[in-house]
Formats: sequence, C-alpha cells, structure tokens
Amino acid sequence: MSTPLLPVQLDVAGRLVVVVGGGPVAARRALAAVEAGGVVVVVAPWACEDVVEAAQAGRLDWWPRDYVPGDLDGAWFAHAATGDHDVDAAVSTEAESRRVFCVNAGDAAVATAWVPAVARADGVVVSVGSDRPTPSPPHPGDHASRVRHGDPRRVRRLRDAIATALDTGDLPLRPQRRSPGPGRVALVGGGPGDVGLLTTRGRRLLARADVVVVDALAPRGVLADLDDDVLVVDVGKTPGHHLVPQEEINRVLVEHALAGRDVVRLKGGDPYVLGRGGEERAACEAAGVAVEVVPGVTSAVSVPAAAGIPVTHRGVARGFSVVSAHEELGDVPGGAEHTLVLLMGVARLRESCATLVAGGRAEGTPVAVVEDGYGPRQRTTTGTLADVADRAEAVGVRSPAVVVVGDVVTLSPAWPPVIKDGAHPPPR
Ligand code: SAH
Repeated sequence: MSTPLLPVQLDVAGRLVVVVGGGPVAARRALAAVEAGGVVVVVAPWACEDVVEAAQAGRLDWWPRDYVPGDLDGAWFAHAATGDHDVDAAVSTEAESRRVFCVNAGDAAVATAWVPAVARADGVVVSVGSDRPTPSPPHPGDHASRVRHGDPRRVRRLRDAIATALDTGDLPLRPQRRSPGPGRVALVGGGPGDVGLLTTRGRRLLARADVVVVDALAPRGVLADLDDDVLVVDVGKTPGHHLVPQEEINRVLVEHALAGRDVVRLKGGDPYVLGRGGEERAACEAAGVAVEVVPGVTSAVSVPAAAGIPVTHRGVARGFSVVSAHEELGDVPGGAEHTLVLLMGVARLRESCATLVAGGRAEGTPVAVVEDGYGPRQRTTTGTLADVADRAEAVGVRSPAVVVVGDVVTLSPAWPPVIKDGAHPPPR
C-alpha cells in the first residue's frame, strides 16, 4: 500500500492563488478559486476567453506573459497547467521551495495537491478523488516521468452518478437539524401517476421534506422511499367524495410550515392545471409562508399520449383546450382543427357530448376516453360524440379518465372503435 493522501478543503478567501497557464483547465481552476473568494493571478502569454473576461471584469489578475521564477511570491496555493511539461515542472519546483502546495496538471509525480471532482447540493459537498497510485513499472514507450494520477474518467463518472443521485433524492440529503424559522411549502406537480414522470426537482424536494401532503392521483409510489419519520398526510380525493375540504388542506400546509417543517404538497399532474395550485399558493402566501411551485407533466397532455394520441398534429389539429367537465361544459372553443381535452369528465360524459353537438361539433367527431393513464388499469375506449357515452357505459369506464375530442383521436392504435356484432362503423 502506498501512503494515502490527506483529504482537505482549503479556505482561499482573500488569499493569493497563482494559476500558471491560460487554457481551459487553468481557466476552470482559476475561476473556481475566484468563486471561493481567492485573490487570483493567472500567468500566461495567452489565455482563453473565460480568463480574459474575468480579468476585464476585475475578478482576477491576468499577467499576459511567460512564467518566471518568483511568480509564486506570496502565494498560498498554486496550479501549474500550461500544457508544457518543463514549465509545469519549474512551477512545481518553485512551489516546493516556497512550501506552497501545488497542483500539477501535467505531472502527478511532482504534484503536491490534487483537485477532486465535486458534487454539491444544499450545502453538502461530496468530493471524489483518487488515492496516490501505486507506482507500476513503466510500459515501453511511456514517458516515464509523466505519471497520471488515478483514473480521472472513472472519478468523473462516479461524481456524475453521485450528483444525479443527490438531485433525484436517491441519497439521504435531508438535514437532521433544521435552521430555525418557518419551513417552506413546495407545490410539486407529480405527473399522471407514474413515478418516472415526476421531475427531478420534485424528487429532490421530496427527499428533504418533513411532511408530504398527497393526493389520490399523485405518483404515490414515491411514498415508499420516504424516511420513516416523514409525516404523510393523505388528502386523496375522488370525484364526488371531497374527502378533505380545500380549506383544510390549506390549513395543514400553513400549520406545518409555520411550525418549521418543510412541506411538499404532492399533486397529480401539474399544480396549475385544474389542480387548485393557485389557491394553495395564495393561502400559504397570505400566512407569510414561502412557496415554490414545481411544474408537473399534466394528465391533459400525457394521458392522451399514453393512448397514442398527440393533442396537436400537423394537418389535423393546430391547438387544444383543456376544460373541466365536472360541471356543465358551457362555451368551449370549437373548430375541427381544435382538440378538446376534458378532465373530470366521466360522470357527465353523455351530457358533455350532447353539449358539444348542440354547440356545433359534428356527431361523427372522434372521441377517446383514456382511463388510468400509465396505471395498471390503463384502457382506451373510442367512439364518436354520438355513441362514445354508450360505449363507455357498456365497458364500465371509471374515473380517472381523460376525454379527448377531435380528429387526433384517429391517430391512436385504439381507433377505429371496436365494432360489436351487428353494429355499424360510426358515421364520419
Ligand atoms: N392537475 C391535474 C388534473 C387534476 S383534475 C393534471 O394536471 O393532470 C383530475 C383529473 O385529471 C381526473 O379526473 C382525470 O380527468 C385526470 N387525470 C389525472 N391523472 C390521470 C390518469 N393517470 N389517468 C387518467 N386521467 C387522469
């Protein structure tokens, strides 16, 4: 075993960091040191745009000339990344004599410091680096003195995987102790029910939530991944059974947030599409609680897609409207080239179809009723405005379902409708 390296993080704020070299690697190192508050000098006759811009903005000093011994005077930390082995070696030599730790991009054998690959999230830093490599006999043709440190691609891949896992909430990022003060509420659109259709941002907020207030149509599969001490409040509603009144939901959100807890309100689809997200946000804001709204994949577009129906299609439909069909439809946009998407439309399907025909839509207009999109009961029933209600009744269509009205329905594999014995194809 070789001697291990000592992992540390450096506070370079207000301290001189000298970067020798002006290429992309040097630029990245220089800008990272600037970010960390360092007083940064870049020594290079030529420098890439990032360095030039940062110099012009006064964020670092660029000395546009070759390195000369003495340039590390006063430095706390140095980087040699010129691409020229001899120059890098000279910088390392000066650093060694001044007892300044020095990264050497070209030659790990003389480097005294290495930059890890880093993933950051919510105040946590995960560094991935290589330990000191065990020296191995040089292969014929190898430049013997050019030792590479570890396996940088493996390190980067590992870092990327950790960064993704932090982002998606797969790693335990939830702080054990909260900073004092009120918590926050995130209204997270969960998509149509499949866990894979919840956004990464949503997952990340879920992974650090103290309380999750969840709907019936939300992707409830994510609840199994929550820590045991996360409080889950189920306010699942089914049409006709408003289990928990909206005012009560608002009250729960506000109460937990004011008690200092981070709350995720996990909703089906998108919070702002027939989801009362606006009301929940207003209630939180009225109580002085900070709210973030995370968009979701709305069922209005994705559930038709699950049945192979694009809501617009060149030459077929130029636009679409999403309408609640829970009550009397009223005036809705018309025209053969305009798709109508009805949500909460199962109970009043017959009345809605009649209203659309009375409003001028052709009786032969294709209609699809897509139940339980992305769920185990997903099923598509097609017909026309004239007969889809009968067909839906015959097969026992249940909520939740999205009703699509318009010629785009003919693009679904479920079109044409199944013809029963003795029945005729629907009129077009
Ligand atoms: N905010 C949600 C809609 C809430 S209204 C969104 O953007 O998707 C509830 C209605 O959405 C249901 O009555 C049904 O019409 C539709 N819906 C939601 N998820 C569904 C699913 N998985 N399959 C079919 N319809 C769904």
